[in-house]
Amino acid sequence: MKTAGKLTLIAGVAAAAGIGALFWCRQSGALGRVVDDAWLWAAEAGVAVAGTMLIFWLLGGQATERRTRKLMRMIEQDGETGQGARISPWTLLTNLEVAIQRKLRLNQATMAEMTRQRRELEIQMRVSDAARQHTEAILHSISDAVLVTDAFNELAIANEAAAGVLRFDLAESRHTPVDRLITDNALVKLIKDTRESGNTANHRHVEHEIGRGGRKQVYDITLSCVTNPQQEVTGVVTILHDITKEKEISEMKSDFVSSVSHELRTPLSSIKAYVEMLVDGEANDEQTRGEFYNIIQSEANRLSRLIDNILNISRIESGVVKVQRENISLPSVIKEVMGVMLPQARAKQITLTEKASPLYYQILADKDMIYQAVLNLVGNAIKYTPAGGSVNIETEVDDHARLVSVNVTDTGVGIPADAMGHLFEKFFRVADHKKIAKGTGLGLNLVKHIVETVHGGKVGVRSQVGKGSTFSMSLPMDEG
Ligand code: ADP
Repeated sequence: MKTAGKLTLIAGVAAAAGIGALFWCRQSGALGRVVDDAWLWAAEAGVAVAGTMLIFWLLGGQATERRTRKLMRMIEQDGETGQGARISPWTLLTNLEVAIQRKLRLNQATMAEMTRQRRELEIQMRVSDAARQHTEAILHSISDAVLVTDAFNELAIANEAAAGVLRFDLAESRHTPVDRLITDNALVKLIKDTRESGNTANHRHVEHEIGRGGRKQVYDITLSCVTNPQQEVTGVVTILHDITKEKEISEMKSDFVSSVSHELRTPLSSIKAYVEMLVDGEANDEQTRGEFYNIIQSEANRLSRLIDNILNISRIESGVVKVQRENISLPSVIKEVMGVMLPQARAKQITLTEKASPLYYQILADKDMIYQAVLNLVGNAIKYTPAGGSVNIETEVDDHARLVSVNVTDTGVGIPADAMGHLFEKFFRVADHKKIAKGTGLGLNLVKHIVETVHGGKVGVRSQVGKGSTFSMSLPMDEG
């Protein structure tokens, strides 16, 4: 039997004996003369309570000691306090306090270390977050489409340009397999092939067309493998650079070279032929010689107009043009143009008329340039109007808007609606008009540059196929 059991038994037996003795005394009346019943009852109850308290004290003490030892073992886990050793409750409590304090100190040190590590981690996270945001900002500021795929051909990161070109939702795209993200199978294959090739030494360059908004865009695609420090391929960086404009310009340039050389050759051949005829004495009479001289002069003028157009556009575009502003009156410029263009109009039986505004107005402008612009509009009107038609030059004043306009109206072939938005672009010519007249597609571009870039005015056009067109140029009035 354990100590607690023995003690309990002894205390129980002692308490029972005490109660029995007192009971016997009361029953037998042995102490009756000395103590009355009430006192005996009280004594019995007192002994019972004292016995019970003794049992509880003994049991409680044992249990407390056991629990404390267990607690110390749990705290220290080193079994320093042997189970069998009997120590006083005071020593027990002191040991317990020491053990708890030691454990507390240990815990505090661990906590401090953990707090330090947490702070370090937080800083590292903030640094890497800033680095990621920085990388993303750089990526998004790039106008080329950039996408990075990982070793599983899933999208790791992409910029807004890539989402726009390849039409995917940037927010939902991360870790999506590229073949689910990109509908262009050829591009998906290019990315896969690059990763599988594992070629880290060279970038791959491919020219590729991608349909976008009903139009085909041409891209110069650069693909390069990404590797880890062990030189294993971990992904592919794909950059799509839009070269559609460059392609168009280079096509336009070659078109321009062939059409300019054609344009230059035509008047030149004509001049050469008439000069040869004159040299060979084929023009016998004065009248024929006069006709030949006129042709040579008009072809030489055509040549110089063409060269002027080319030079003026390039001067205005490069900003090196010298603008000599002076007060000019538009009607006088129009008169000059009419004088020059009348022979051409007559040759096609086209009536050339002028309707001037009754108001007096002046503009501050470069006379030669305005002359060139009006000349180009009237020249076109005659060129694209069949024989027997008419061309009218009208001046208008809008006092409210403080603008003076020149409107050139013809009864010519007109312009199809789909071409209207492109008329003032460099080298643009309506396809059907190429059979009607020769041209370079530079005249209207020069008009726009002169009116809008140099003089801050506005050009416009209204047209109906088969009925004719009205080209207008508005210039600010001289407020001086
Ligand atoms: P081009 O040397 O070809 O005449 P322009 O730049 O002057 O070049 O004109 C561009 C195109 O606009 C022309 O090729 C023609 O198709 C169209 N165009 C210009 N003026 C007229 C007009 N008065 N009537 C019809 N089409 C015109």
